[in-house]
Amino acid sequence: MSITKIAAESTEDSQKEVLNVFQSTQSVIKEALKKMNYSDEIYELLKEPLRMLTVRIPVKMDDSSVKVFTGYRSQHNDSVGPTKGGVRFHPLVSEEEVKALSIWMTLKCGIANLPYGGGKGGIICDPQKMSFGELERLSRGYVRAISQIVGPTKDIPAPDVYTNSQIMAWMMDEYSHIREFDSPGFITGKPLILGGSYGRETATAQGVIICIKEALKKKEIRLRDARVVIQGFGNAGSFLAKFLHEEGAKVIGISDAFGGITDTNGLDIPYLLERRDSFGNITGLFEKTITNQELLEMKCDILVPAAVSNQITVENARRIQAPIIVEAANGPTTIEATKILTKRGILLVPDILASAGGVTVSYFEWVQNNQGYYWTEAEVLEKLQTVMVNSFDNVFRVALQHKVDMRFAAYMVGIKCVAEASTFRGWV
Ligand code: GLU
Repeated sequence: MSITKIAAESTEDSQKEVLNVFQSTQSVIKEALKKMNYSDEIYELLKEPLRMLTVRIPVKMDDSSVKVFTGYRSQHNDSVGPTKGGVRFHPLVSEEEVKALSIWMTLKCGIANLPYGGGKGGIICDPQKMSFGELERLSRGYVRAISQIVGPTKDIPAPDVYTNSQIMAWMMDEYSHIREFDSPGFITGKPLILGGSYGRETATAQGVIICIKEALKKKEIRLRDARVVIQGFGNAGSFLAKFLHEEGAKVIGISDAFGGITDTNGLDIPYLLERRDSFGNITGLFEKTITNQELLEMKCDILVPAAVSNQITVENARRIQAPIIVEAANGPTTIEATKILTKRGILLVPDILASAGGVTVSYFEWVQNNQGYYWTEAEVLEKLQTVMVNSFDNVFRVALQHKVDMRFAAYMVGIKCVAEASTFRGWV
């Protein structure tokens, strides 16, 4: 076979991978269920969300024109409890992606042992090009459009890519108007004054750092002086950089959607945190930047993809130099790339485990809202620590026991909960 033929095939391979986030999720679920001897019926039930609502949201724009946005809410499975998961505002939101993300939420909740199934929402829009008023009208319009299928005991939204506590506040207010009573438990990630929880804003990053510490123990590397590269400077990436810097680790590379900046002696994180905009953009301030691909391939001790999906693929998996990868984003590494990394002895802590801190503290927020009794930040952090360490240990143990990588083990742990709950309910 000629070299050109091999090259052409590998390009085709990676294209197939990138396009099939939803299908690759389904195939791992199928394999995981088979490994645990579950029936084909269970796979038929769990391979798709139980409910997927598509909505069209008319919004009066500032120039008096009306723009109609498309939004989605996917509810994967509610056998364990109400569905739970964020709402993202992004130009590349698609039905397939929202479906896959809702399945990943089921897995996350199962791994963290939370009494929820997975949900996810998204609106196709570009929030960086919208005004405050337009974003408020879009957020309220979305809640009106999905209000029939959501609620504190049905499906509880939360922040995700490009949505924040202000957007959660508008959504909660709109829902409370529709229901005619104050409903803080309808949504999590709210501002503290509206029933938000201490520690929610930083929860994803806190969960990631707990996983980093557990992974470092396995590789016998100290956090102090460890060199870390973070792709993405949004909510998870920026707080993670802050915490790592405070703990004495060296953050030697960071990026936004446009590129990356590096310093092998450690970047000036406090300066970068002060100068980043609300969308996590920072590299515009620098003349010398590298591409996101170059950033991922930097020599370091820990690589944290904290941006978007499909960043580590069969194309670049062989060039990754980090011995540890901890995924803070949803779906940054493809299944095929995971196999290559595992073969190379790289310890990969998968997204559905490493990024479960966000939904865990969302659960704490919802419990506090339901009780009307609020906890201190120390209480929240202590409880988060327990959940994350137990989840890590459990997934690591299953990986060793079944001789599989940590992603596959995490799928096994996560899907088992919902398979069991659906069976006990008599659905299958
Ligand atoms: N959007 C976050 C995630 O993907 C948080 C979800 C939540 O808090 O419900 O895990």
